[in-house]
Amino acid sequence: MRSELEPKAFEDTWGRLTVDQFKQSPPGSTLTSLLLSIYKHLYDHFGPQHWWPAETPFEVIVGAILTQNVSWRNVERALANLKERGLLTPESLAQVPEEELGELLRPAGYFRGKARKIKAFLAHLFTQHQGQLERLLNQPADQLREELLGLWGIGPETADSIVLYAAGQPSFVVDAYTLRIFSRLGLLPAGTRYQEARDFFQKHLPPDGTLFNEYHALLVALGKDYCRKRRPRCNDCPLQRAGHCRAAQEGLFATAGSALVHPD
Ligand code: SF4
Repeated sequence: MRSELEPKAFEDTWGRLTVDQFKQSPPGSTLTSLLLSIYKHLYDHFGPQHWWPAETPFEVIVGAILTQNVSWRNVERALANLKERGLLTPESLAQVPEEELGELLRPAGYFRGKARKIKAFLAHLFTQHQGQLERLLNQPADQLREELLGLWGIGPETADSIVLYAAGQPSFVVDAYTLRIFSRLGLLPAGTRYQEARDFFQKHLPPDGTLFNEYHALLVALGKDYCRKRRPRCNDCPLQRAGHCRAAQEGLFATAGSALVHPD
C-alpha cells in the first residue's frame, strides 16, 4: 500500500477527513482505501467545492427539484426569481398559486411539472410536519430518505441530495458524472443502476456527511472539466496521474484529439 493511504498522511495533507473517520472504514478494505485515495487526489487537485450553493435547507430542496434534467445555470435564474420576491420559505411559497409558481420557474425548464412537484412537497410538509422543515429533516437518514422517495416527483438522486445537502446526513448522491467516471475507472460496470452504485459508496466509505458532500461535488468538477463524455482530458486528469484509471491505462482515450466516447 502506498504511503499516501496511511492515516497520518491523510491528516497531514488533507485535514477534512480525520484519522478517526479513516479508522471507521472496514479494516483491511482495499476498496475503502482506493475510494479514499481517489477522494484525496480529487481534493488535492480541486480543493473544497463549498456545496450546496444555497443559503438555507429549503433553498437546497427547491434547487434539488429544479435541477432535475437541466443545468444549474438554468436553476439559478429560477431561484433568483423566487428570491427577488421573497418566496424562498415554505410559508411564502405555499401561498403562491401553482400556475404563478410555474411562470416564475420557467427558466428552469419543465416548469409546470416542477411547480407541481414543489407544491406536492409543500403539501406533505404542511400536512405531516406542520410546515416545520426541521421536523422533516431531523429524522434518521434512512427514514427521511424513504419518506422523500414516497413523494410524487422525488426520485433517488433528488432524495439523496436533500438528505445530504439539506439535512447534512450521509446519503451518497449518484449522478451521471459518478456513473461515467467510476465506469471508466473500472470500479463500476457500464450500465450500473442508481441503487447499486449508491450501495457501493455507502458500503465502502465511512458514513460521514462532510465526506459525502465533498466527494460528490469533486466528482462533478472532474466530470465537467476532465472526464467529459466526449474527448476526456486524460493527460491532465489527476486520477490518471495517480494511476487510478483503468480506461486510461488501457489506452481507451489514447488518440489525442479523437472523438472517442466511452460506451456508457
Ligand atoms: S483518466 Fe480520463 S477517463 Fe480516466 S477519469 Fe480521468 S478523464 Fe476520465
